[in-house]
Amino acid sequence: MEDCIFCKIITGDMPTEVHYESEHVVAFSDINPIAPVHLLIIPKAHIASVNDFEQKDCDMIAEMFLAAKQLAANYDIAESGYKLLIRTGFNGGQEVPHVHLHLIGGAPLCEDIHPQ
Ligand code: 5GP
Ligand code: ZN
Repeated sequence: MEDCIFCKIITGDMPTEVHYESEHVVAFSDINPIAPVHLLIIPKAHIASVNDFEQKDCDMIAEMFLAAKQLAANYDIAESGYKLLIRTGFNGGQEVPHVHLHLIGGAPLCEDIHPQ
């Protein structure tokens, strides 16, 4: 996808430090982090959203979650906890139409569950 910023990260046209890579996915830091750890885990193939997932994508989908687990350990937030988030479509608030799993942690993220 020529105009996709996440595809440009994968091709190297938009230089970005990759923190994790497996056969089907890569991960890098969010450009506008909302927490001390905020990574984006994306498929190497251009897939616009969860709505486009197919049976053949099962290995990639599993790799997204295994990447999250590994990165949480690497960033030492596995025990303290983290949030995994995939926004989908307009009402879901998705801004970049290349599916991405947010890994967000390093601080309390649920003020409703953990009031100050
Ligand atoms: P969404 O709202 O689609 O779930 O999340 C898109 C995320 O991509 C946002 O958190 C935004 O900060 C991040 N983002 C947008 N453009 C870039 C970019 O060029 N590089 C990186 N690393 N992150 C980006
Ligand atoms: Zn793309």
